[in-house]
Amino acid sequence: MASHWTEDDFLNALYEVGPDDGHPAECPACRARLEEYRATRRAITTPPEIPPSLLAGQRRQIQTAIISRSIPPLLKWTPAAATVAIVLALALWKTPSTPPPSKTDAQLMTEIYQTVYTSEPAAFQPVHGLFTEKKAAHAAQ
Ligand SMILES: [Zn+2]
Repeated sequence: MASHWTEDDFLNALYEVGPDDGHPAECPACRARLEEYRATRRAITTPPEIPPSLLAGQRRQIQTAIISRSIPPLLKWTPAAATVAIVLALALWKTPSTPPPSKTDAQLMTEIYQTVYTSEPAAFQPVHGLFTEKKAAHAAQ
């Protein structure tokens, strides 16, 4: 007869990875311990029975808590109102207030010529002044 199983042998046998030497079939002491371990494991792993009245009571408590903690109507609509306000603000901000007045081609060309001939660099002013003084001096003679 082989030696008795150790605690590790019993645990391995419970998880069906244990020794496969058939010792519990030969040894009444080890067979009794193995059956005791199996009975304990069955008792531990069997889910407890929960009465339906307990589940119904818990469900009522949860629903009552949900109803009592619901969001007030004003706070419920605050994110939607803020979104609408932001969208309106962006839409109004990007919209031009009045279209620019329409001009005829002649008016547009006049403005272009005025811009070109009146926009003289400031450094050019003394040079321009030299020519006007020379003209004035020449006219005086
Ligand atoms: Zn044994």
